Amino acid sequence: MTTEATAPPSSAAPAADIPAIVARLRKTFSTGRTRDVAWRKRQLEALERLLVDNEPAIAAALEKDLGRQPFEAWLADIASTAGEAADAAKNVGKWTKRKHQWLEFAQLPGRGWVEYEPNGTVLIIGAWNFPFALTLGPAVGAIAAGNAVLLKPSEVAPASSALMAELVPRYLDPDAIAVVEGDGAVSQELIAQGFDRLCFTGGTEIGRKVYESAAAHLTPVTLELGGKSPVIVAADADVAVAAKRIAWTKLINSGQICIAPDYVLADATVRDELVAKIGEAVATFEAGNSGKRIVNERHFDRLTTALAATKGTVAVGGGSNAAAVEIDPTVVVDPALDEPLMTDEIFGPILPIVTVQSLDEAIDFVNARPKPLAAYLFTKSKGVRERVIKEVSSGGMLVNHLLFQFSTTKLPFGGVGPSGMGAYHGRFGFEEFSHRKSVLTKPTRPDLTAIIYPPYTEKAWKLARRLF
Ligand code: NAD
Repeated sequence: MTTEATAPPSSAAPAADIPAIVARLRKTFSTGRTRDVAWRKRQLEALERLLVDNEPAIAAALEKDLGRQPFEAWLADIASTAGEAADAAKNVGKWTKRKHQWLEFAQLPGRGWVEYEPNGTVLIIGAWNFPFALTLGPAVGAIAAGNAVLLKPSEVAPASSALMAELVPRYLDPDAIAVVEGDGAVSQELIAQGFDRLCFTGGTEIGRKVYESAAAHLTPVTLELGGKSPVIVAADADVAVAAKRIAWTKLINSGQICIAPDYVLADATVRDELVAKIGEAVATFEAGNSGKRIVNERHFDRLTTALAATKGTVAVGGGSNAAAVEIDPTVVVDPALDEPLMTDEIFGPILPIVTVQSLDEAIDFVNARPKPLAAYLFTKSKGVRERVIKEVSSGGMLVNHLLFQFSTTKLPFGGVGPSGMGAYHGRFGFEEFSHRKSVLTKPTRPDLTAIIYPPYTEKAWKLARRLF
């Protein structure tokens, strides 16, 4: 998952005049056009239309780039992002409202509030696995917050990137929202322009490079990164449902999802039943031709090498087809904890299942590793649920299902520690791309503060001590 910053610009992408494009966006922002709430609403509605009108073209691009089925294209890239845009268009007026605060007695007379100010010109660098959702999705918050936006889709999904470059200027205000295609080198050239905020979605290692480059300009960053998201299957779990849900979500996009179940920690008492039922579910879902195609040879080689090196037992699948760049959905039971399947993010249709003897062991296992983007738990008990919620740190948590935490506008989506910083979706996206400017206004008369102007008397001091 490493595209070097030194890589030459992608030959597929026309060389863009980056400084000129950024200057155009900045100029538009400085006119105040993007701050107008009616403009924001229109852009958000147009973004929703872009997605809905072009569903067949988007599905075709996703099929070409990722071998994605049309239903999954609709569910994960089109409907989710269109829903975000529609929600923001509906609520942006409310979100931009000043948030007045009750002030302390000592601050009276006066009024104070939070004024949501757009960051300015924002750079969004997207990932390839859900190219529309992870590029246009963050743009929803950025537009709602009143920013000018530059989008850099991932070059690893070239058909999707080209389609965004074609559609965005057709639907959205081209002087305020632009697409630049290209790879890591183009991303670095963009970051060097010194944006007012940057949102990056991708792997943790590249995220680190992005953060370093942004630091030179003190550009604030939102980093939506990856990691190994665990699934704890407790002794009291509904194993049949857990197996189906784990298998389904591991197969979507062939497991190439930042919040895919990376590995399972199964209580020893339910481990065998879980493995058997995941096998049954995979067989059913595979009949629908799901979950095999890998994005490119580099990732195919990475995955097949990790699988070949396993010291665990391959209980389901294990096959691959290099010519078709496909890996069969595979379950590996009890791999060594120091092998690649257990040390690196998998990002493919391979599921290690590690046996644990107790809930304590499962919690300790997760907490001994980098904080994940998601943590999942299957249990029927409130006690177990509360313990895991309180004791395991992760970007987000979902109990008794997987992935759905991404598809609500009501909860923030983001990582913690090495899985990222900042969060978006719904109002949280608006907040993420806004500066919360504190504003305090005071009357000039009567000038009550006169009592504490210098020279400081004993009396003024006494009064001030009582007031503040
Ligand atoms: P990727 O290859 O699509 O790269 C992400 C973006 O980074 C691309 O636009 C790419 O051009 C750019 N890039 C590459 N090298 C760069 C560099 N040196 N400097 C600046 N930008 C550079 O994505 P990937 O890294 O293969 O994506 C997979 C990873 O992304 C996984 O770890 C996954 O968990 C994570 N991810 C996270 C989320 C999330 O929402 N948190 C979503 C999807 C993927």
